[in-house]
Amino acid sequence: MMSSSFDLSHLEELTSNAEQTQDDLLKEILTLNANTEYLRQFLHGSSDKTLFKKNVPVVSYEDVKSYIERVANGEPSDVISGGPITRFIKSTGTSGGKQKIFPINDEYIEQLGYVLNLRSLVISKYFNEIGVEQGKTMEFHFIRPESTTPSGLPLSLAFASFFMSDYFKNRPSKCNSEYTSPDQVILCPDSKQSLYCHLLCGLCQRDEVVRVGAAFAYSLVRAIDFLGNYWKELCGNIRSGHVSEWITNHNCRSSVSAILGGPNPILADVIEQECSHKSWEGIIARLWPKAKRIECIITGQMGQYIPILDFYSNKLPLGSTIYGSSESLFGINVDPLSKPQDVSYTFVPNLSYFEFLPVDHDGDMASIVDLVNVKLGCYYEPVVTNYFGLNRYLIGDILQVVGFYNSTPQFRFIRRKNVVLSVDIEATTEEDILKALAHVNLLLESSDVMLIGFTCYADISTFPGHYVFYWELKARGVNDVVEVDKKVFVKCCSVLEESFNVLYRRFRGQRGQDGSIGALEIRVVQQGTFDSLMEYFISQGGSTTQYKTPICINSSEALAVLENRVLDRFYSERSPSLET
Ligand code: AMP
Repeated sequence: MMSSSFDLSHLEELTSNAEQTQDDLLKEILTLNANTEYLRQFLHGSSDKTLFKKNVPVVSYEDVKSYIERVANGEPSDVISGGPITRFIKSTGTSGGKQKIFPINDEYIEQLGYVLNLRSLVISKYFNEIGVEQGKTMEFHFIRPESTTPSGLPLSLAFASFFMSDYFKNRPSKCNSEYTSPDQVILCPDSKQSLYCHLLCGLCQRDEVVRVGAAFAYSLVRAIDFLGNYWKELCGNIRSGHVSEWITNHNCRSSVSAILGGPNPILADVIEQECSHKSWEGIIARLWPKAKRIECIITGQMGQYIPILDFYSNKLPLGSTIYGSSESLFGINVDPLSKPQDVSYTFVPNLSYFEFLPVDHDGDMASIVDLVNVKLGCYYEPVVTNYFGLNRYLIGDILQVVGFYNSTPQFRFIRRKNVVLSVDIEATTEEDILKALAHVNLLLESSDVMLIGFTCYADISTFPGHYVFYWELKARGVNDVVEVDKKVFVKCCSVLEESFNVLYRRFRGQRGQDGSIGALEIRVVQQGTFDSLMEYFISQGGSTTQYKTPICINSSEALAVLENRVLDRFYSERSPSLET
C-alpha cells in the first residue's frame, strides 16, 4: 500500500532514483503476475527483465480485450493478474471514444490518492512561496452511478471510483474541509443537482475560495455557463436561506442547507450585482475575489478552452497539474507556475513500469526505451505495464521530452493518436467520421446528390459546443442543380450522430435531457468552396500533389474560407436512438 503521509523530499528521492525504482517495480509486478495465464505464455513463470523485454509483445486494447473480458465475465483474476481484481474502470477519452474497461483493485484508488497528495504538496509549496493565504478550493467534481460487469464486479469511471471509495471518505484532509462542497454534493448521482449545489456552496463561501478548479477544463467552462443560466435562482436561495425544491437528493439537500445557514440578503445583493453585468468578462475573479488560481487540465484537447477561461477569470494563472489515464497514472506538473504552453508532466517512477515507443519507430518494436533513456526533444508513445494485468500496453498519447527533473524525464502532452474532434472528453477519430459519412452517403444517393467535399470542426463558441460539418454537394446529373429537401439534411445530421461512439451519444444527452454536446450542424457551402480551400492551403506552402482535404480543420483562416461560402445550415433533431 502506498503511504499517504510524506513530504516533498519523497519526490526528490523518487525522481533521483528513477532507474532503480523502475527496475524494482518491474520485478515486483512480474513476481506478482508471471504465473498469470497471460504472462505464462511469454515468460514461463520467470520475472526476468531481459526475458520480459524479449518475449512480451507490445499490445493495444484489442489484443488483450478477450483476457480482460473473461475476468469481467467471472473467470478468476489470475487470467491476467496475480493480485485480486475487485473492480473495473471505464476509460473515457481513449481509442476514439470506444469504451474500454480495465481491471483494478483498491491499490489503483490508493495510487490516485497518492498522486493527488503529491500534487497538493507541490501546490502548497508554491502557495507558501508566493505568500498566498490558505483557503478553500471550489472544485467541480461529479460521479456517475456505478454499474456492474456481468460477474457483478463494480464498474465506473476512474475519478468516480475514487470519490466513492473509503479512501476518499476517510481521507485525513477531510477535517480541514478543503473543498467548498461537502462530499454529499460530489456524490450526488444527479449531475444537474450536483452542479447547482457546487455553485451554491461556492457562492456562499466566496470569501474563502482561493482556488477554482475541475479535473478537465471543459467541466469548469460548463459550470460557469450553468451559472449564467441559474444565478438568479441561486441568489434567491441565498437571499431566503432555502434550497430550491428541485434539489431532491436528500443528502445533498441537507448538507447544502447547513452550509447556506440562513437568509443572507447582503450576499445575495453582491452576487446579483456582479452577475447582472452585461459582459461576463472576469466573472470568476469578481465572484471569488480571493481566488488566485484556476486548476484543471488544460493540455491536449483541453487547450481549446484556455481563451474562454482567461476571459472568465481575467487571466488568473491556470494550473494543469496531473496527467493520468484509466490504464495508469503517469505524472504531475512540478512547476505549477508554468504557462499553459510550457506545462510538462514529470513521470512518477513508482506508479507503473513505463517504456516509450519512439513515434518514428517504423514498426521496429526493439526501438522501445526505458523511462530514463528517452532523449530530450524526441516524441514517444508511452507503453505501460501495471500491477493489474496490463503488460506493455500502448497508451495512444504522443508526448515530447522537454526536460528532466533530477533523473526523471518531463513530458509535454502533444496529442492523442488519431483524435480529430472533441467537445467534452469524448474523442471522435478520423475513422469514426469516415464511418459515419458512409452511412449518410446512402441517404444522399437516394436524393441524387453527391458529397464532393467535407471537413469538420468542433465549434466551442456555442454552448454547449457542437460538431460542425461543412459539405459541398454536387447533383448527380451534370447540369442539374442541387435540390435536396431540408428533411434529408436534418436526417443526415441525426444519422451522423447515431453512428458516433457511445461517449458522443451519451454526452449529447440522455432521457430527453440536454447534454454537454449540442446538436450537430451541417453547413452547406457553395460549389467550388473546397477548391478555394485547397488553394488557400497551397498558398500556405502545401503542394498540389500531396494535398488532401483535412478531415478536421482548426485554423481560423481556413475556416474563414469555408464560412464565407455557407449557403444553408441544418441541425440534428433529438432522436430516441441516441439514448444509450
Ligand atoms: P481516460 O483513460 O478515459 O481517463 O483518458 C485518459 C486520456 O486523457 C489520456 O490518455 C490522455 O489522452 C488524456 N489526458 C489525461 N490527462 C491529460 C493531461 N494532463 N493533458 C492532456 N491529456 C490528458
